[in-house]
Amino acid sequence: MLMTFTGKQLIGYAATATGHTTFASPAATDVKFIDATPADVHAAAALAAKAFEHYRQLNGATRATFLERIADELALVRASLVETAQLETGLPAARLDGEITRTVNQLKLFASLVREGSWVRAMIDPAQPNRQPLPKADIRQLQVPLGVVGVFGASNFPFAFSVAGGDTASALASGCTVVYKAHPGHPATSEMTGLAVIRAARETGMPEGVFALLQGAGHESGVSLVTHPLVSAIGFTGSLKGGRALFNAASQREEPIPVYAEMGSVNPVIILPGILAEKGTDLAKTLAASNTLGTGQFCTNPGVFLAQDSNDTTSFLQTYAATIAATPADGMLTDAISASYATGVKALENKKDVQHLATGVATEKKRSGIPNTFKTTVSAFLKDVSLQEEVFGPSSIHIVAESKEELLNAIRQLHGQLTLSVWGTAEDFVNFQDIFRVLETKGGRLICNGVPTGVEVTHAMMHGGPYPATSNSKYTSVGTNAIYRFTRPLCYQNFPKHLLPQALHDENPLNLWRMVNGNYEQGPLRA
Ligand code: NAP
Repeated sequence: MLMTFTGKQLIGYAATATGHTTFASPAATDVKFIDATPADVHAAAALAAKAFEHYRQLNGATRATFLERIADELALVRASLVETAQLETGLPAARLDGEITRTVNQLKLFASLVREGSWVRAMIDPAQPNRQPLPKADIRQLQVPLGVVGVFGASNFPFAFSVAGGDTASALASGCTVVYKAHPGHPATSEMTGLAVIRAARETGMPEGVFALLQGAGHESGVSLVTHPLVSAIGFTGSLKGGRALFNAASQREEPIPVYAEMGSVNPVIILPGILAEKGTDLAKTLAASNTLGTGQFCTNPGVFLAQDSNDTTSFLQTYAATIAATPADGMLTDAISASYATGVKALENKKDVQHLATGVATEKKRSGIPNTFKTTVSAFLKDVSLQEEVFGPSSIHIVAESKEELLNAIRQLHGQLTLSVWGTAEDFVNFQDIFRVLETKGGRLICNGVPTGVEVTHAMMHGGPYPATSNSKYTSVGTNAIYRFTRPLCYQNFPKHLLPQALHDENPLNLWRMVNGNYEQGPLRA
């Protein structure tokens, strides 16, 4: 059953709007979604800054209860969320349902992290009053939240990288408050999710304004948010163009702020000779399926394949092309994405050194993205940097090297990536081990004999990578380490106990793992 929507900004406990320009959603035809104005952005940021003063001081258990309640509220409206998101994105119900499960589990994972508490990285270097020639002060450190975080979600993950997704969950877990700019591709889904977050905040006694949701179909509201003086950091998931524009806007502020922009990637896949000989045909089908999964609309979609020329490579390419030629077009997320995919494919078709290997089957699907695959040489690839740009959708290009040295050369020139995969036999992994040393400098996640699509939400996950995959390669946007994007270290020197946070008390009342004099321990400070 579909809900009724307001189309307004959710600020505090009210739905308000001062703007006059609007946009529509296929899931709510009786309502217009109103673009947030600078006044709306200010109202949300000011309330979030006020809420931060209180929220940052709440203990981990209280914040955990809030995150768990958001998860529960989402689960309660799961069916309506799926129905609404399906109308807005065209994504299949099973995929959307699975994404809600992932989002719920992600919130619970952050709840368990902050309830346990050791994530604050408490460090204590006790005083040495008798040290010669000078006494040493008592020095203690922990992570503290940055303030108000502005969050932007992507169109291709209406839940896991959207309103209550990883950026919001990690920011709220850290003690930051959040002003969220909804993606215009799914405004009704965003409103429904935002209301669930606000209900959870209210029911668990969080300060009003801990979370706000702003709508907007133009760039103005997003730029207003990034440049608002009360905003202290940005979490962004989306295109390179959007991420870079917001990063540039933030760096021109009087007070620049960190922008953690998770952007596009071509996720290169290197296929070594042994595995091509052993099971090139099966591999071609597996990789073509990974490239066209979800109409290629994943940030981890493999778009560039590299292999050394051989008869096995020729057979591999024939099977890959035949698989693409038999794959029907499916719908894409938005008009803009579908138009940009068509432009990207046309640009590849027009390149003289690029051979068009296959086109998929055209269908009547709305905003249909027809699969395509291309081939080129290493020398053409090295001459034309545009061949490394993401064509967001089911397109791929095969780079064929004449020798191992040429293959290595191509790999050395790769831009920063979210993932890089290598397929090989045990023997390949010995013969080509030098490739791995180069790959370590290129991406955030290296994969052996697996496809890059599918990102586990775990402690050890790294979903990030050198530019242009992200604007800051030190951080992940998936997994518990994502919390450190929104914190900073604070050091207390010679502080009396009553002024120290509990995490740094001698008695260790929170029972945290702490680094004391360089060693990890869990227990009270020994005299
Ligand atoms: P997008 O067009 O960049 O939109 C993301 C958000 O940024 C929207 O709210 C959009 O709102 C805003 N925005 C875009 N350009 C802006 C600008 N110049 N100024 C101010 N705001 C701006 O991204 P998308 O098309 O939804 O997502 C697809 C892309 O995301 C793909 O490239 C994909 O690879 C990438 N992605 C990356 C990850 C990751 O984790 N790295 C995950 C999923 C997707 P307006 O349109 O209203 O301005």
